[in-house]
Amino acid sequence: MSKVLIIGCGGVAGVVIHKCCQNSDVFSEICIASRTVSKCDAIKAELEGKTKTKITTAQVDADNVDEVVALIKKVQPDLVMNIALPYQDLTIMDACLICGVNYLDTANYEPENTDDPEWRAIYEKRCKEEGFTAYFDYSWQWAYKEKFEKAGLTALLGTGFDPGVTQAYCAYAQKHLFDQIDTIDILDCNGGDHGYPFATNFNPEINLREVSAPGSYWEDGHWVEIPAMSIKREYDFDQVGHKDMYLLHHEEIESLAKNIPGVKRIRFFMTFGQSYLTHMQCLENVGMLSTTPIEFEGHQIVPIQFLKALLPDPASLGPRTVGKTNIGCIFTGKKDGKDKTAYIYNVCDHQECFKEVGSQAISYTTGVPAMVGAMMMLTGKWTKPGVYTVEEFDPDPYMDALNQWGLPWQINDNPVLVD
Ligand code: NDP
Repeated sequence: MSKVLIIGCGGVAGVVIHKCCQNSDVFSEICIASRTVSKCDAIKAELEGKTKTKITTAQVDADNVDEVVALIKKVQPDLVMNIALPYQDLTIMDACLICGVNYLDTANYEPENTDDPEWRAIYEKRCKEEGFTAYFDYSWQWAYKEKFEKAGLTALLGTGFDPGVTQAYCAYAQKHLFDQIDTIDILDCNGGDHGYPFATNFNPEINLREVSAPGSYWEDGHWVEIPAMSIKREYDFDQVGHKDMYLLHHEEIESLAKNIPGVKRIRFFMTFGQSYLTHMQCLENVGMLSTTPIEFEGHQIVPIQFLKALLPDPASLGPRTVGKTNIGCIFTGKKDGKDKTAYIYNVCDHQECFKEVGSQAISYTTGVPAMVGAMMMLTGKWTKPGVYTVEEFDPDPYMDALNQWGLPWQINDNPVLVD
């Protein structure tokens, strides 16, 4: 029996809300709050009468700490789930600290305005010290660790699929399968087809920023950065087939490098079709991926935000997307003195997700682990004051809940390795 405030009402939040409403014993009451309250009201109307969960809605601008504080004081939740954008991570964490409430999100902080000189100075120092240039990193949220500890509150960061489930797989491998993990390859394959020449499966601005940035991986205690899309491999994915995949920087590499003792190399690969890459290259070449505002007919516009307005809303892809996702981690290492490999992964069908909750599998594979993470916190299985990522908790109840709530996983003990 608990009350949760869900901030954001886009593609991922739609799944989170459906899943909370399927799990009314834990989520007895939810308040859905977002910038556009009509979206919250629409999903409330769709679900009311079909669930025991009591649903209320509210309007909030989560960039504004005072507004979030006022809303938390009114709703009095046990947990705030940030399913808006990474831009709001710090303002919502600040509001949680002021109000004494636990916090959860699915993506680590990045600023909306990467030209902000104050942010830029810290960013450039970090690029030099750490050796990777992605706009997002954990330092901003890890800086809240002591404040959350002192307040006796838990912040769970990045409980989507990747980050999120991939780290639970790592913690599970560490706990049950290996004495020593040497390498981790995270493979994110989307074999889905939505029929559009170009669309992104989650928020276009966040997605395009991520995939157009230089790639990087962790090796022998340091970052190795490479030009965007310059390392390509082909892999034959279970239930999907052969796909090209490219090495990207990804946020969970940063926390896993700290939390998996002795790991020698961590890489992240994502599959992309040629049409996606060609469109992205053209858009980048003409400046449409820029986050720097330009003057157009007397208005300031941010090119990537204008592009977002033109592209299909990811939440609308559900009915059109067919095929499957296959996301997981390949491990190499040692067990009882012998070499060992393992591949833990989930396969998810876009159309099955649509039938169940009205969303495609990318939103589904993110929204289910967000609900599961919240369930871990609300049922007292995952509470420790401070700021933590998924692999820092006991993976067993989380892995059981993934099986129960729609993302069953399997283990292949003899996978083909990525060279
Ligand atoms: P959407 O763009 O579909 O939804 C974002 C929602 O946040 C919208 O409802 C939007 O409101 C709301 N929002 C944006 N700004 C504010 C604000 N200032 N105040 C209040 N509400 C706001 O994004 P997705 O659902 O695709 O993604 C949600 C999150 O999930 C992102 O952080 C994304 O990075 C993360 N993600 C994580 C993955 C993982 O595996 N870990 C994978 C995929 C996504 P409005 O309707 O007005 O625009």
